Amino acid sequence: MTPDSHRLYESIILDHNKSPRNYGKPAQAAAAIEAVNPLCGDTFTLYLVADGEHITTLSFEGNGCAISKASASLMTCMLKGKTREAAVALGNAFESMLQKEPDAPVNEALLGDLMAFSGVRAFPMRIKCAVLCWRALLAHLTA
Ligand code: ZN
Repeated sequence: MTPDSHRLYESIILDHNKSPRNYGKPAQAAAAIEAVNPLCGDTFTLYLVADGEHITTLSFEGNGCAISKASASLMTCMLKGKTREAAVALGNAFESMLQKEPDAPVNEALLGDLMAFSGVRAFPMRIKCAVLCWRALLAHLTA
């Protein structure tokens, strides 16, 4: 990774942490999904509205570290309008990228802005923060 792309990645996380997207409970009825990481103190609730196979609304609220909050915010942006199947595939690709060695090749085209979290691989304790809301959502979607 070049120093420039590293800075870009950091700025994506800082931006989503400072200005989380799709934050708050939607007006319409939504499934509430709890996501808690006691090791770090991250506590979020995800709100999901689906129309058949499509995720029509996905938002969140709660508190946590910058990594967990930015990951939740980016997740809501990336999955809106996606099918359940595509959401599960992206979540699994994200998790597998985080579990790889820092220099292992990954599918950057599929992951897009989620590559911002590639630096987290060097900090195993923070991987739980990055995948917290993804794991909670995928558990709900595949239940
Ligand atoms: Zn955390």
